[in-house]
Order: sequence, then C-alpha cells, then structure tokens
Amino acid sequence: MLAPANKEEVIRIVKKAGGEGQKVRIIGSGHSDDSILTTSGYLVSLHKMKEIISVTKVDGCFTPEGDQCYDVTVQAGKYLKEFFEELAEKYDVCLPIAGDINEQSVAGIIATGSHGSGGRFPSISNYVIGLEIVKADGEILKVTQEDPKLLDAVRVHLGVFGVVTEVTLRCVQNYHIRKIRRGRVMDEVLGELETKLKDNEHFEFFYFPHTDKCQTVSSHRYVSSDKQLDQITLETLRVINTYFDLIRHQNYNFGYFILFTKPTHRYYMYLCLMWFSEIEIAIPYERCKEAFQEIKDLIEEARNWQEPYMCNQIIEVRFSRGETSYLSPLYLQNSVFWGELYYLLFFLSKRNISVFSPPDILIDKYGGRPHWGKQTYMSARQRGRCFPKFTDFVEERLKHDPTGMFVNSYLADAF
Ligand SMILES: Cc1cc2nc3c(=O)[nH]c(=O)nc-3n(C[C@H](O)[C@H](O)[C@H](O)COP(=O)(O)OP(=O)(O)OC[C@H]3O[C@@H](n4cnc5c(N)ncnc54)[C@H](O)[C@@H]3O)c2cc1C
Repeated sequence: MLAPANKEEVIRIVKKAGGEGQKVRIIGSGHSDDSILTTSGYLVSLHKMKEIISVTKVDGCFTPEGDQCYDVTVQAGKYLKEFFEELAEKYDVCLPIAGDINEQSVAGIIATGSHGSGGRFPSISNYVIGLEIVKADGEILKVTQEDPKLLDAVRVHLGVFGVVTEVTLRCVQNYHIRKIRRGRVMDEVLGELETKLKDNEHFEFFYFPHTDKCQTVSSHRYVSSDKQLDQITLETLRVINTYFDLIRHQNYNFGYFILFTKPTHRYYMYLCLMWFSEIEIAIPYERCKEAFQEIKDLIEEARNWQEPYMCNQIIEVRFSRGETSYLSPLYLQNSVFWGELYYLLFFLSKRNISVFSPPDILIDKYGGRPHWGKQTYMSARQRGRCFPKFTDFVEERLKHDPTGMFVNSYLADAF
C-alpha cells in the first residue's frame, strides 16, 4: 500500500502506474464492502493528507433553519473523527449531517453516498461543492459549482474518476442535539411518520422481526446552556430505570429509554459492540408503509414454512431527502433506507439470504437502490441498473479515465 504525503506524490504514483499499465484503487478507512476496494495493482491511502485547508464564512448564506453557512476545504484523507473535532473546536462549525459512526475518511464517505437520517437531509455527498481529483494522466481536475452537471456526476464517485485529493463541503454553525431512544409499537410509529420527520432534526427506528416492536431514535436541537440540567435528567432516569426495570420491559419489550445532549460533532458515535454485516436498500418514501407491511407478512409466513425460517436480523430504518448526485440512492427521490444488520455471531442468518431475501423484493417490486458501500450479492452492472443516471455516470467517467486505471475487477463488469 502506498501512502503519499502530498499532491505531488499522488501525481508521481499515478504516472508510474500509468507507465507500468498498473491498476490503482484508493482506500479511505476501509469501511466499505470489499467489492469496491480490492485491487491487483497499487492500493493508495491518503491518511497522511489530513489538513483542513480553509474555513470561509459565506456572507448572506443561511440554511432554511437559519444556520450560517461555511465552506470548508479539507484534504481528502482526513478521518471524520478528527475532522469533526477540529472543525468544532477551532471554528465552531459542523457538517449538517453524518452517519452512525465517524471512522470513515472524507473522500471515502462521499464516494458511496453515505447518509444519516432525517426528513430534511440528503446524503453527505450532497454537501460537496468542490473536488480536486488527480486523473489517470496525472492532470488535476477541479470540479466546482460552476459546472453543476459534472459536480453531480462526481459527488458519489466510487473512486473511479481518479484520486480525490481535496474536498470542499458546505457546512454550518455547530449546535447541540438532544437524543431520545424509546421502545414503541411499530404500527403506531408508521402512523406518526410524517409528524416524526417534521418535528425531529433526526429520526430513525430499529425494527425487530417477529415482534410488533421497534426502537425509535429521535433528536432535536437543544440550547447548550441546558446541558447541565440534561445531565441531571439523564442520571435521574438511570436511577429510576434501575428500580423499575421489570415494569419498563413489560411496557416496551425490547425498548429502553436514553436521553442525552451533545454538540453535533460528538453525536455520530454509534458504539458497535459486535461484528456485523449489512445490506441497505433505499426505496421511495411514498411506498415504504406498503413495502414494510409486505415484508412483515412474509417474515411471519416464512415462520410456518415446512423448513421454518426465523429472521434473526435487526432492521435499521432511516429517512433521507432526494438529491441530484447521479449515483446516490436518493437521486431525485425522498427515500427510506431499509438496512438489514446481520450480527456475525448469528452466522446462520447469512445462509438465510438465499432462502428469503427482502432486498430482492425491495429492488424488484419497489424500485429500491442499493447502498454502494454495503454488502451485496449483485454484480456491479445489476446494481448500476437500479440508478437512472448510471449511463451518464459511465460516460462522464470514461472522459477522465479512458484506460480504466481506477476500475477493479468487480467494477469492470459495469464500466
Ligand atoms: C460500522 C459501519 C457503520 C456505517 N454506518 C453508515 C451510516 O450510518 N450511513 C451510511 O450511509 N453508511 C454507513 N456505513 C458505510 C460507510 O459509510 C461507507 O462504506 C463509506 O464509503 C466508507 O468510507 P471509508 O472512508 O471507509 O471509505 P472506503 O470504504 O475505504 O472507500 C470507499 C470508496 O471510496 C473510494 N475512495 C476512498 N478514498 C478515496 C480517495 N481519496 N480518492 C478516490 N477514491 C477514494 C474507495 O476506492 C472506495 O471506492 C457504515 C459502515 C460501517 C462498517
């Protein structure tokens, strides 16, 4: 693996690979499925390229919520954990949205259209307003808002345009968030979806198959001066929960109740205690209730098969707004992400994919689009067909990498 420390070294590596007819793939933090990461050629990591280059207040630019906008240019190899911390501590600025964890790199997270959850938020890639890419011939491609079509093509880039060395993101003033987890009855939650998405900054839920229960995670903005009070509330709740544990479980079955307040840059730190793998599909928001009902019914039906099927996955359900990035699962479509988490302890659940597969139903019947960074059983070409702008993406890519230097054996099927 090669680890360049600056742009000049990246250019040298790419030119050397070109001269030798070698393939090149770039790795961020390696949190994606192997299919899009592996290579028989040079594997390049930009972990040494991690400077925040500039933070500029954009005069007169505010989000609909009234947040002041800032444009942040950062070297592409920076890991989000350091990026979020430095951005908040030095500049009091944050990314408007992030996913469950903050281990990924800047170029890596935008490459696959990674997302969080909340009715008004598109993917993280949508906040990219500029990119700098070292192409196969060693030339530098600068993409800005002045060429919106090219920007839409390269935001979710899959690492196939070249080595992304710098990214400019539209960020906002940092703020505090209060998060609440609750056990709920799933049908009730589905009935309240519109309100939940409107009233909360972020909203998602985890559905537990073979029950009618789910756990909701809602959050809203909170003024930081109330932090102390919130901590006291949390401690009190902990004590109450200890004494009333039995009652709580009667009420919520799988549910529990946690409440905390954090600045946004400390919010995205989901604690993963076990290895898991995940398939994630985005379906149109309007059809989500119908789709959930069909899958719930099928799961129940499968329980009575001659060889009964027990679904031991947990389903993470998240919501995002439509956007214009060509390869985003959210392309021109407000969507719901259906994420099947397979805890690897329950290795039998892997076998079950071939027996019974909700993702097939979501893709074939509900026009679902798979997440590029997650596990897949599809070829790159099959995956590409789920995206209306895939052909435009392929054509644009060819202009910048005509020899296919940045395409690995999995992606070669589609590019
Ligand atoms: C525990 C866990 C939690 C997750 N949570 C979420 C979540 O909440 N929401 C969500 O949407 N996804 C989530 N994901 C998926 C994850 O966000 C994506 O797979 C993301 O792309 C990984 O970023 P990375 O930095 O690890 O990039 P990698 O996985 O290393 O690379 C991803 C792609 O980017 C390319 N790439 C990386 N750096 C560069 C560069 N400098 N130039 C050109 N190409 C580059 C690679 O070649 C590859 O194609 C999660 C994954 C895990 C394992």
